Amino acid sequence: AKLTNDDVRSLAKEWGVKFIRLQFTDIFGILKNVAITVEQLQKALEGELMFDGSSIDGFVRIEESDMYLRPDPSTFTVFPWRPRDGAVARLICDIYNPDGTPFAGDPRNVLRRAIQEAGEMGYTMNVGPELEFYLFHIDNEGRPTTNTQDRAGYFDMAPVDLGENARRDMVLILEQMGFEIEASHHEVGSGQHEIDFKYSDALDIADKIVTFKFVVRTTAQRHGLHATFMPKPIYGIAGSGMHTNQSLMKNEENVFYNPTAPDGLSQECMYYVGGLMEHVKAITAVANPTVNSYKRLVSGFEAPVYIAWSGRNRSPLIRIPAKRGLSTRIELRSPDPSCNPYLALAVCLKAGLDGIKNKIMPPAQCNRNIYEMTAAERKELGIGSLPESLNQAILELKNDQVIKEALGEHVFNRFIEAKQIEWDRYRIQVHPWETDEYLSKF
Ligand code: GLU
Ligand code: MG
Ligand code: MG
Repeated sequence: AKLTNDDVRSLAKEWGVKFIRLQFTDIFGILKNVAITVEQLQKALEGELMFDGSSIDGFVRIEESDMYLRPDPSTFTVFPWRPRDGAVARLICDIYNPDGTPFAGDPRNVLRRAIQEAGEMGYTMNVGPELEFYLFHIDNEGRPTTNTQDRAGYFDMAPVDLGENARRDMVLILEQMGFEIEASHHEVGSGQHEIDFKYSDALDIADKIVTFKFVVRTTAQRHGLHATFMPKPIYGIAGSGMHTNQSLMKNEENVFYNPTAPDGLSQECMYYVGGLMEHVKAITAVANPTVNSYKRLVSGFEAPVYIAWSGRNRSPLIRIPAKRGLSTRIELRSPDPSCNPYLALAVCLKAGLDGIKNKIMPPAQCNRNIYEMTAAERKELGIGSLPESLNQAILELKNDQVIKEALGEHVFNRFIEAKQIEWDRYRIQVHPWETDEYLSKF
């Protein structure tokens, strides 16, 4: 059962909690904290704590800066790595305007809106994310590097190194915070890791992703390492993805499962895939929101490039894992962990629902290795590609009404504006590649 305000009050007492961090994210998924002492907990739980919204990127202008935090009691958790004495807990908050309406720029509110729309159609979205990250060394000045000492590969039983120790600690801490860890392993890249936790409803998972990134980074730091969720930290080496397994439930049953269909997949499942594929170019701007994201979406590193789906091979954008029954799900392989999970899940859900509402059939599945096809073959099969840059993705986002509506005016405008600036700042840089290539040649 979910925790209530009463539970939070008694748990805080039981644990001797002294400090509480009220958390939320800005539209870029950056975690923000307002710290209070336990004496203010009552006031906080009643939603009476205010903060200055104008200090948050992408939020509001100065003249409309008062915002209220409404903690969600179900997110109460104590930080296990802090001393028991004067314990620190956190609550994730929804953000409200002074007039009591939900704040349109709050990403959690964006996801809530999509969840509500699904609810009106009788659906609950379940999500299981697979987050990858790198553990790097820190230099003598305390700055992160891209060096790792670790030489292990995928699933290797490496001699226990710093990274393995840190990862074990991460798993233990996450478990103490209520995560059910399903798998934790070394990834393909040297210094790259993955930790998978059990699926849950979309809002719970978005909260968990934000918490996960924060716990992984904090724990790495305590091991003298730097954890990064940057999508492609090193050229020529595997990037870090956030494969997103998705399914819809209705009356305790998995809507994507149809035991009488030859492949065990329902019509709704196909439409959901159709909707995702229809809107995936715009989704990419949200699920792959950095300049660097597009360095990951290239061929040769198990990241998707082409817009196709398959029940069998792993190369396409959407894979349908073999599990059926309650575990029937589709795996979207494009998102990366630099995204704001609230927004990313909201746009995926809206796209899937659009597929169901408008009965959008996906093209035939593609079980061949698309990377080995010629451009002409792909064209014949109608296989498009994901945007190749943040700039292209922004253009796609601007042209997609469904995804625009999923974000809402406020977030859409702020997001586009900020991302365009990010792209322009990048575009005018002179990169090391260019000097290497041209400086002596011309
Ligand atoms: N690291 C790969 C990516 O960028 C995914 C590897 C895997 O299949 O787990 O998405
Ligand atoms: Mg992986
Ligand atoms: Mg996967």
